[in-house]
Order: sequence, then structure tokens, then C-alpha cells
Amino acid sequence: DRLIAPVATREDDAVDASLRPKRLADYLGQQPVKEQMQIYIDAAKGRSEALDHVLIFGPPGLGKTTLSHVIANELGVSLRVTSGPVIERAGDLAALLTNLQPHDVLFIDEIHRLSPVVEEVLYPAMEDFQIDIMIGEGPAARSIKLDLPPFTLVGATTRAGLLTAPLRDRFGIVQRLEFYSADELAHIVKRSAQILGIQCVDEGAAEIARRARGTPRIANRLLRRVRDYAQVRAGGVINGEVASAAMQMLKVDPEGFDDLDRRLLHLIIENFDGGPVGVESLAAALSEERGTLEDVIEPYLIQQGFLVRSARGRMATHKAYRHMGFKPKSREAS
Ligand code: ADP
Repeated sequence: DRLIAPVATREDDAVDASLRPKRLADYLGQQPVKEQMQIYIDAAKGRSEALDHVLIFGPPGLGKTTLSHVIANELGVSLRVTSGPVIERAGDLAALLTNLQPHDVLFIDEIHRLSPVVEEVLYPAMEDFQIDIMIGEGPAARSIKLDLPPFTLVGATTRAGLLTAPLRDRFGIVQRLEFYSADELAHIVKRSAQILGIQCVDEGAAEIARRARGTPRIANRLLRRVRDYAQVRAGGVINGEVASAAMQMLKVDPEGFDDLDRRLLHLIIENFDGGPVGVESLAAALSEERGTLEDVIEPYLIQQGFLVRSARGRMATHKAYRHMGFKPKSREAS
């Protein structure tokens, strides 16, 4: 597994629960999202209504699940957590919905992966707090309408474009999470270190934050690995030097790139003359799935200006040439 993969591993899942902020005040960064959510939550509570349905989109590991926990906590209601691929049949969704208490939050991760049949059930549930269920089979079958308690659906997806238009239109609130700045990640590292009982000075937190690809989940994972190194080699204290040495051992470079990132950039520069090259060709050459390339590897490289995505394909920028130790070409994108 990639140390810097933004998707959760089993170890992350175990630790994430203890590191997950519970209140909006502890949810660091994402200032515009926080400000808006505070207002919407206060307004819904003031009117004693369920909060409007919320769609959260953003790359893995940026805090979508965490935000849904925070929303439920701030509303003072229960949270039910599920995900698109887990809800196989319409009946599974009906069971979830009919078990909610008024104003509860239902979180559906990877909501773009709901089957069309299940999605159909969701529309009237979201809009009118009603579902149609079929009773019996054959000619005697009939459909009955069931009232649901008013609830809030929080849906999460890695890209808004993956959602069908009718589903997207049914969310009153749409929030897009951005990659975190190094400063924000340093705060998250310090907070996590405190919870985990790790001694981590400012320079150590900054060094980890700088390489965490704008992603809290990666920051927390790097912190755990650097802790091991610090414990065995440096008396347990994480300072700048220790963090840097540990990361060198873990083969995470100063930009937070690992072998896979470097292979991707190397490939575009060396084999495809800097691009443009189609995503399919890159995926084949790297033996990775196209979706992994688009959702997991590329977003950070693009956001950091190492890669550009155009209609004709991917291109390496001047910055990528320099980082990989090549002399920039005169004509490529910069
Ligand atoms: P996603 O659902 O987007 O994949 P998660 O919500 O599971 O991401 O976040 C992964 C971990 O990162 C969480 O367990 C939490 O420890 C940390 N995290 C995410 N967002 C924040 C934040 N805004 N402040 C502090 N920690 C965060």
C-alpha cells in the first residue's frame, strides 16, 4: 500500500475514529465551509427543522466523513453511516430510512455508486420524506406510501461530476472541500500528536505537514510512521530533523511525492516528451486503473502545478521537469 495514499487503510480506520474532530470548532481549515455550515445548522436548529440535505465533494481523506459526524453532533442528533455500494437493494435503503428519528443525519459515502433503482427510492424520500414500497408479488402486488421522519441526507463523493443531475439537484447545500494548506495541516498534526500522546515540536509538525499532500488523513498516517522512527532512533521526540530523516527512509520526497508520482511524471517527460498524453495510455503504462489515476494521483499534482489536464491529455509543467531533475523544454506548458 502507498504510504501517501489518500484512501483509508484498515489501520487508518482504527485510529481515525479517535482523531476525528467532533465539533465544528475542532474541524480545522475549510474556513468558508465551516462558516456556512455554522449558519445553516444554527438556522435549522432555530426553526426546529431538519437541516437541508448536504452534498460534500472533494478528494479522499479531506474530511467528508468527519464533517458529517460534526454536522450530526452540532445538530444534537444521531448519525447513521453507510455507503453507495453497500446499499444493494431498494429494501436496504427503505430499512435505513424508516429507522431514522426526526432530524437524524444519514451519511451516504460514495453516493455516486448507488444503483439506479436505489436512487429512484431516494428522490421522493429526499423531497417529500416519503417512500413507495411494493407489497406482495405478481398481480396482487401493490405499492404503498410510507411517511418518513424529516431527516438530513449527507452525501459524499470524490467528484461532483459523477452524480446524476436529478440526484445533485435534490441537495440544498453543496460544499466542496479544498486541499489544506501546510499551516492548517501542521495544526492538525499537532492536535493528533496531542491526542496520541506523541511529543512533536513545531518544526516536526511543519515537516510532516509539508509532505502530506494537502490531506489530513495522510498527515495523520505520516505522523504515526514518523513516531515509530522517533521512538527507535531519536528518544521519542519528533523535531524537524527527525521528521525529515524518517521521511527520507519512507521514500516520501520533500513535495510529498512517492515512487508512483515520480514514475508518472517521469513517464510523461521521458516517454511522451512531456505530453499531451491520454489518461488511458498513462494508466496502461503504470498498470494502474484510470479511476485511481484521476481521483487519487492526479488531483494533487495538478493542484500543485506539476501537471496540467487538457482536452488533448496530460502535460508535465516546467515545475515537474525541474523537480524530476530535467531541463524544462522550451515549448511545454508552464
Ligand atoms: P474522507 O471522508 O473525506 O475520506 P475523513 O473524514 O475520513 O475523510 O478524514 C480522514 C481523517 O482526517 C479523519 O479521521 C480526521 O482524523 C482527519 N481530518 C479530516 N478533516 C479534518 C479537519 N478538518 N480537521 C482535523 N482533522 C481532520
